[in-house]
Amino acid sequence: MAHTLVDIPFENRHECWFCGEPSELTFSFPHQYFIVFDCSHPPLSVPSCRECTSLARKAEQHSIWAVGNAVKRFLTQTYQKDLAIGINWTQEELANSEFETGNFVGFQKSAWLMYEIAKQRVNYQGWVLSLESVELDVDYVGSEFLFDGVTYPSVDIAIDHFIETYDLSSWAFKKALSIVGFDKFGKAVKFCRLLIGNTPEQQRLALRYFAEDEKLD
Ligand SMILES: [Zn+2]
Repeated sequence: MAHTLVDIPFENRHECWFCGEPSELTFSFPHQYFIVFDCSHPPLSVPSCRECTSLARKAEQHSIWAVGNAVKRFLTQTYQKDLAIGINWTQEELANSEFETGNFVGFQKSAWLMYEIAKQRVNYQGWVLSLESVELDVDYVGSEFLFDGVTYPSVDIAIDHFIETYDLSSWAFKKALSIVGFDKFGKAVKFCRLLIGNTPEQQRLALRYFAEDEKLD
């Protein structure tokens, strides 16, 4: 199968189409590892970094855009701990920290840097794809979810991410979200962090009060 390299804008000439890191390879789609019969676009290649290339090969999707979304999902999972740093610490907290010297500061700085890099890669939007100047029709509508500066590939991935990061009760968090809605995602996270360690009965009772308060809001 002959793959055509997509057009690459000058300013993106060194970038991975998936994450914006320096591109070392190209990723071709469709490919031999996952046979697709209903691909809406001609066989094509995009510049890709080593990590995204291997993640993209694992994606069982039907178009390059859906593969792109799956790569973001894998990146969010791979860098779950790094992304969590930004949730737990703010840059001011780090700057005003009492620990001004020593190993812990070095650890904090590198953790923050890892967070910034992971966030940038997950948030990166690849350029509009065209082949020999003919723009391709995007056939995939992602359901991205933005919270606290990070664009998650979907709201379900954001939910899983927060459950894992804070060790929230999956049941209680989803219930809280169903009460407040996705636009108050942060409120549901804060509420469920207070429930950690409570018994299921205590959680159920707290959720009932939470729902009542929400009606008054
Ligand atoms: Zn990449």
